[in-house]
Amino acid sequence: MNKNIAIVGAGLTGLVAGYRLSQKGYKVTIYEKNDDIGGLMGSFKIGDTTLEKAYHHIFKTDKYIIGLIEELGLSDKLKWHEEKTALYYDGQIYPFMGAIDLLKFKQLDLISKIRLGLVKIWLEKDNNWEKYNGVTAVEWMKKYCGEKGYGVIWEPLLRGKFHEYYDKISMAWLWARIHTRANSDGYLGYLDGGFQQIADKLAERIKKNGGKILLNTEKRVWASQTPTLHTGPLKEAAYLGAVCVVFTSKQSLSPYYWHNINDSKSPILCFIQHTNLVDKKQYGDKHVYYMGTYGDSEQSVDNWFDYLKKIYPNFIGPEEKWVFRFKNAQHIVTTNYKVPKYKIGKNLYQANFAQIFPEDRGMNFAVREGEKVAGVVKI
Ligand SMILES: Cc1cc2nc3c(=O)[nH]c(=O)nc-3n(C[C@H](O)[C@H](O)[C@H](O)COP(=O)(O)OP(=O)(O)OC[C@H]3O[C@@H](n4cnc5c(N)ncnc54)[C@H](O)[C@@H]3O)c2cc1C
Repeated sequence: MNKNIAIVGAGLTGLVAGYRLSQKGYKVTIYEKNDDIGGLMGSFKIGDTTLEKAYHHIFKTDKYIIGLIEELGLSDKLKWHEEKTALYYDGQIYPFMGAIDLLKFKQLDLISKIRLGLVKIWLEKDNNWEKYNGVTAVEWMKKYCGEKGYGVIWEPLLRGKFHEYYDKISMAWLWARIHTRANSDGYLGYLDGGFQQIADKLAERIKKNGGKILLNTEKRVWASQTPTLHTGPLKEAAYLGAVCVVFTSKQSLSPYYWHNINDSKSPILCFIQHTNLVDKKQYGDKHVYYMGTYGDSEQSVDNWFDYLKKIYPNFIGPEEKWVFRFKNAQHIVTTNYKVPKYKIGKNLYQANFAQIFPEDRGMNFAVREGEKVAGVVKI
């Protein structure tokens, strides 16, 4: 057959679609504007190890990416680690891993805690997301969790992730976030040596099947005559940026992996001690940390370490640090969100995480979308 197809973007969606199309006999050329592949799950080197520029883990329910990991021969590197989550609120860190932690949480009255617990169980059990799509997460959560429970637990997450759009976000998105995680038994998956290996293996296989990947090549899609699949930001979608600061230290700051920072004055949404998930031996015996937030990708990070020192007064500062900025990191999923189409013209297709809804976008669904669109492309 040997039909040519151009793919714009060597993120996970573009690489998966490219691999599947190359298996079907298409001659694939992938154009990537950056100097490396992987997009939002892209990596950099700490010593000899590859680490994601933004924190990444997977859940046991992430069947598409787990299947791909198996297919690429990387299963022996996929390790499951107990999830250790905490909440920073009103000057203190609280463990936050389940019902017992919620009951012990001093900052809420018993009625609010019972309501929060029941809402979680309800959303875990309810399979019908469509009914949540027309209502905002703010309205729904306030109504069922109560003002106090909503204000302490859910508003900081919504504001931190969606900023000025926080009160327009569809409850279907929050339903999916709670629903999918609930069935994931408290373990998080990480690929020893980093998720970059998935991108590298896909690239290797695409090339083996006769395809090409051209780096540092920005492609203007809309004027193209060649059959094209565009996997960069979509015209119909609106996005927020993200910023991550990665740093190393010999100090261990926390016994937890993930910390939600529920403080309206905080410049960061989350703090992650990556080496409480993955052994620090992989990073030259140093602890690796992330601080992250969404919003303007050009925002200043000048006060981030000062803020961290307020939480951990003994922290003496980072040994090494890196700042990574992502312009289009999260699509804004307002009520009655319309999922953009795959086929947008003669020989013109698009696939990007903005088509993921109501699920929270992630590598698992990038694999699903890449595979789906590869099935739709017909030239
Ligand atoms: C802070 C953060 C944390 C995350 N944490 C997790 C996590 O824990 N678990 C998880 O599963 N997922 C996580 N994700 C999400 C995951 O990284 C993404 O869902 C996934 O990588 C998206 O892949 P994609 O290919 O759809 O998009 P992208 O990764 O955005 O890929 C698009 C590619 O297209 C390129 N491109 C765009 N325009 C052009 C053009 N005109 N010409 C050429 N190239 C172009 C871009 O440079 C990019 O490489 C996280 C994301 C962020 C930002």
